[in-house]
Amino acid sequence: MRIRIVLALLAGAGVSAGAQQTMVGYTTAGAAHERDVEASAIKRPSPTSASAHSKVLSRETHVAGTPAQARTRDYVVDQMKKWGLETEVRSYDIWMPQPTSVRVARVSPQPKELSLAEPAVADDPTSKLAQYPTVNGYSGQGDVSGDVVYVNYGLIEDYAQLDSLGVSVRGKIAIARYGRSFRGIKAREAEKHGAVALLIYSDPQEDGFVVGDVYPDGPMRNSAGVQRGSILNVDGDPSTPGYGSKPGAPRLEPRQMEIPHIPVVPIGYGNAGELLKYVRGANVPRGWQGGLPFRYHVGPGPVRARVSVADDRSTKPLKPIYDTFGIVRGAEFPDEFVIVGGHRDGWGPGAADNVSGTVSVLEAARAVAEEVKAGVRPKRTIIFATWDAEEWGLIGSTEFVEDDSLRLARNAVAYFNQDVAAQGPRFGGGGSPSLRPMLRDIARLVPDPNGKGSVYSEWRRASAVADTAEPAMGDPGGGSDFAGFYNHLGIPIAEWGFGGQGGVYHSQYDSYTWMTKFGDPGFHYHAAAARVGTAMLLRIANADVLPFDYVEYARTMRPYLDQIDRAVGGHHWNAPTIALRAAIDRLQEEGAAFNAARDSVLAGSPSKSALERTNQSLMQVERALTRPSGLRTRPWFRNLIYVADENNGYANMALPSVNEAIRSADEALTRNEIQDLAAHFDRAAQALTQARNALRGR
Ligand SMILES: [Zn+2]
Repeated sequence: MRIRIVLALLAGAGVSAGAQQTMVGYTTAGAAHERDVEASAIKRPSPTSASAHSKVLSRETHVAGTPAQARTRDYVVDQMKKWGLETEVRSYDIWMPQPTSVRVARVSPQPKELSLAEPAVADDPTSKLAQYPTVNGYSGQGDVSGDVVYVNYGLIEDYAQLDSLGVSVRGKIAIARYGRSFRGIKAREAEKHGAVALLIYSDPQEDGFVVGDVYPDGPMRNSAGVQRGSILNVDGDPSTPGYGSKPGAPRLEPRQMEIPHIPVVPIGYGNAGELLKYVRGANVPRGWQGGLPFRYHVGPGPVRARVSVADDRSTKPLKPIYDTFGIVRGAEFPDEFVIVGGHRDGWGPGAADNVSGTVSVLEAARAVAEEVKAGVRPKRTIIFATWDAEEWGLIGSTEFVEDDSLRLARNAVAYFNQDVAAQGPRFGGGGSPSLRPMLRDIARLVPDPNGKGSVYSEWRRASAVADTAEPAMGDPGGGSDFAGFYNHLGIPIAEWGFGGQGGVYHSQYDSYTWMTKFGDPGFHYHAAAARVGTAMLLRIANADVLPFDYVEYARTMRPYLDQIDRAVGGHHWNAPTIALRAAIDRLQEEGAAFNAARDSVLAGSPSKSALERTNQSLMQVERALTRPSGLRTRPWFRNLIYVADENNGYANMALPSVNEAIRSADEALTRNEIQDLAAHFDRAAQALTQARNALRGR
């Protein structure tokens, strides 16, 4: 996974207070039946079973494209078959070079080869096994030497600071600390500024002893712990942009691909100290001092380093990856489907990232399969997916979405994502605003493992929000497997999980031992994540009318308009948002009218064909908020509501077509993008009107 900075705004006050007598989208009789089904199904995921899956799936490092990862495929498929699910495996050949040699040395003073591997620790059996080389996924190849320059987080603004100090990284080896941005942006900026290599290290201030005791005494990163991770800035196989990597598909040459070109190597803070403590030159600007026990300097030099990375791109660049699917065919609407997925690959044993998400998908699959055996089949088809090569750039899910985009665009009702589903006790959730009320309803249904209330009540308590507000939720900007579904196709998505302080992200120490000592010792939060998943899937799969909420959706948009007005006002531009505001107001009015009509029709006995046509129109509402040409900066990103900020990767940008126009300081473009977005909101409102007419049999 990529850690995302949640900048969610609070939802509007007093939103849908979860009336438990009725159930949104269900007839009265249907609601009573569904309550029974959900109550039975959510008891089925179990901590014992979750722990057993976790132990098997995390018993070895399973990086995409390696034989160990093919073994996790077989385990997941065997389990699903055993429970009676129909299964399918889709394979894609991905341009994904694997390292053959990675070295970092201090050249002067006192030449020293740095030991890059993460040492075994007592009582953690997987720490003693083979580990993946410490290199960032899609690093360039090379063997280079140069003076070292400390670039803080390696952000665009950090390089601007260096410029003002008269320090350049051109021809030098940059060293940046993790944090504040996606590592791919750090690599892009280092290369853009002329660095010959980049070292990225975990500073103890954010990710080590300053935060807490280190592994194995505590959960936090020790001095040798390394955060691996991809530095690819596009989603999917970089050799097949926009289409599936199927046999015979045309491929770009490496020189045509959007990939990094300089060696990029992640190191622990022990090794970083071996270089940083000898860096002199300018004093660091305010805020650049990290947690190592000496004064940091910017450099360049006098310490020199050598970085070399070699991989197999010239001999065997393509690797097979495997997505797996477990399928429960719907009894009434088999062609409409809801998907839950989590990535199955990791950088180490991956107990948290992402065995925990895989286990949540597995346990939900077992729960639904057992309900089917007991005679309760969902109305819509449910698909339980595990994705390969997420860690390299959301590759497995992206290739699947690109490969099957027509069917998905037409028939996918929703996608639910499980990435790091359980590594602590703190619930968090997010996704498309249309699904947030349903996620809150389901969180009310599932008991919190701490025994004090529901997942929802504990979530509220931990968020300490006012009585009139709801806990903040994350926006789907990108960074995990929902991106293909949401950002590319406009399919509503939701995600949730139980977080903690972490500390072993993308290292060999993200292990079953770490999980049982610190993350989720009893596997109760794994089971709770699966319970939320089970209920989410059944609630949407069995609904008479799909339970999307476009009142909350429109309300969530409104603060973004104030931000746009402030930016436009600051430039003294003529780019009014009146039409856009009016379109969002109409979406909210249509949402309210639809909800009222839905509830009154469902109180009677609506015809099946009316409901079918209603749901077909409902599925078009968010599709209408995409455009085929995508964002001007990134055509693959068709959704006009949220995207990851292209200058950060972790922070999200709302209404990106407009906000990127503002960032490019183009008044006319901003005006046009505001009009275009208003037109898309109008089309969304029209789809809702059609849905309301269909309800009434019109
Ligand atoms: Zn992950």
